[in-house]
Amino acid sequence: MKIALVTGGSRGIGRAICTKLAFMRFHVIINYHNNENEALVTLENVNKSGSSGELLKFDVGNSVEVENALENWQKTNPDKYIQVLVNNAGIRKDALIIWMDNNSWNDVINTNLNGFFYTTRFLIKNMIVNKFGRIINIVSLSGLKGLPGQVNYSAAKGAIIAATKALAQEVGKKKITVNAIAPGFISTDMTADLDQQQLKSMIPLNRFGTPEEVAELAGFLASENSSYITGEVISINGGLYT
Ligand code: NDP
Repeated sequence: MKIALVTGGSRGIGRAICTKLAFMRFHVIINYHNNENEALVTLENVNKSGSSGELLKFDVGNSVEVENALENWQKTNPDKYIQVLVNNAGIRKDALIIWMDNNSWNDVINTNLNGFFYTTRFLIKNMIVNKFGRIINIVSLSGLKGLPGQVNYSAAKGAIIAATKALAQEVGKKKITVNAIAPGFISTDMTADLDQQQLKSMIPLNRFGTPEEVAELAGFLASENSSYITGEVISINGGLYT
């Protein structure tokens, strides 16, 4: 059975990706930060999909926690390796730059960008040894276009897009693909404070997307069927930005 790790799998887009990968018969490692109850709901979905899963709690922005959690998992599962990594965990702390404090800048860069780095650096070693892997980075429309009030978040997501392209070139010969998904507005806890009625008028498809729609794309990129796609950023935004 192939194994996938989804960071931030307890809610929103991450939960939908865990469920999709379970339908595809992956054993799913569900990472979360604080919200164990929600992570358990994801695990229930995974089990109901006829596959198996487990929870793995760590803060993606804390390199020691990431290394310890993943090393322990590897020690408990010495004959296995994680073929698919979905770097999905993310936060936003919006403010216009003149009012943006250091914490809002540092926290967003740390969770989104450093989280991608710590987790990927650890797991890619075994992908290289085994000459197969899929890395899928959940970025954002903000990282492509930039959005006002999100200089921190746009910087983090834009940096992951550049890193996706660089890493794809580094590891292509080892049959590891590295791609990014850039969602527009998706209905999750992260966007619960936004005015959907007002924003949807800007979106050609006239609605927010669902986590399941993003998960379909992630499932394709995780599959063998996407074997000749690497270094790409694929938008899923209802036509908001093309
Ligand atoms: P949610 O706020 O619904 O969920 C965030 C998830 O990330 C939770 O599972 C949370 O865990 C986890 N998480 C947050 N911080 C950490 C951390 N330090 N370590 C580990 N896990 C962490 O977000 P979405 O589902 O909306 O977003 C998922 C991804 O998609 C993010 O990268 C986001 O930037 C991106 N995105 C979202 C868009 C949207 O419109 N929703 C648009 C574009 C991109 P816990 O439950 O434990 O807190």
